[in-house]
Amino acid sequence: METLPNCVKCQSEYVYEDGALLVCPECAYEWNPAELAEEDAILAIDANGNRLADGDTVTLIKDLKVKGAPKDLKQGTRVKNIRIVEGDHNIDCKIDGFGAMKLKSEFVKKI
Ligand SMILES: [Zn+2]
Repeated sequence: METLPNCVKCQSEYVYEDGALLVCPECAYEWNPAELAEEDAILAIDANGNRLADGDTVTLIKDLKVKGAPKDLKQGTRVKNIRIVEGDHNIDCKIDGFGAMKLKSEFVKKI
């Protein structure tokens, strides 16, 4: 018998399979282990070594030049609701006055 992982939410050992999903009978959480593995593959680590996730708010740790923008992004600029994406610039976000752009996680820190 294949060993199933513990529940992602409550660490319960009584997880069972329901098709492609894993289901926890204790907290009723359902998840797809394949999707979870995919998300895990995209890592965004901030300047302090903290892992960033979708929806986090971060601030810039240095001024950044923005191609095509009339001004630089200033250190300390707050960026809300980031999205982690694959690639060299691994943060997808919108910044007031600049619009949609991509940042490198090493130039931000989580609040
Ligand atoms: Zn659970």
